[in-house]
Amino acid sequence: MIDSHAHMTHGDFADDGPEALIDRAAAVGVERIVCVAFDIPSCEEVTALARDHETVDAVVGIHPHEADRFTTDDLARVEELAGRDEVVAVGETGLDFFRRWSDPERQRSLFRSHLELASRVGKPVVIHDREAHDEVVSILREHAGNFPGGVLHCFSGDIALLEAVLPLGFYISIPGTVTFRKNIGGVLDDVIRACPADRLLVETDCPWLTPVPHRGKRNEPAYVRFTAARVAEVLGIEAVELDTITTGNTLRLFHSRD
Ligand SMILES: [Zn+2]
Repeated sequence: MIDSHAHMTHGDFADDGPEALIDRAAAVGVERIVCVAFDIPSCEEVTALARDHETVDAVVGIHPHEADRFTTDDLARVEELAGRDEVVAVGETGLDFFRRWSDPERQRSLFRSHLELASRVGKPVVIHDREAHDEVVSILREHAGNFPGGVLHCFSGDIALLEAVLPLGFYISIPGTVTFRKNIGGVLDDVIRACPADRLLVETDCPWLTPVPHRGKRNEPAYVRFTAARVAEVLGIEAVELDTITTGNTLRLFHSRD
């Protein structure tokens, strides 16, 4: 099994660190983890982690929440790291009009810069989209075809959004929210059933969005199995079959150049 989106270098893990997370994940069959950066220090950290661990992949970029702070030197550093073999994608990048912790115009500019640098290094993109579906799609359309697709992580849209991003070469990734009681039988379940089997991923987005039965506690890569089990249940298939599907998809998205 693969956790397609984890923030193992986040400060919430300062107590035990990435090694303990990797070991606990491996012990329950989560054999690969895609570790995603959100600012410049974490870009350096995830790249080092992936360099030192065969089972960790790095994704480098500056989160839209950081859009008020980035410099052109920062973007140059992201591009330098993005070109390395242990870095499989660019992100997370996108738009967040839910929290609006940074200026929307700066977010758009940062987002476009990431898509341009992904095109130059020839790697896929990991997209963060909250309350910004239409604009994310229209900006992706401007650049689609220049880079090898990507994933809408923590997918929070409906079937219309799914249908808009599939032709752009995108996958969608399902987080622990799918296990929340309030979401059972809701839009996300419909999206999972409507998604082509070869475009579906699962993730933790740890330390956040902890799935049931650990909801309320800190999330970690080992818990992606609870999300996967719930997705399998929605699709009416065995967990092992879902694992084969999502593991194959994650490897195809992030390792097609190997
Ligand atoms: Zn994330």
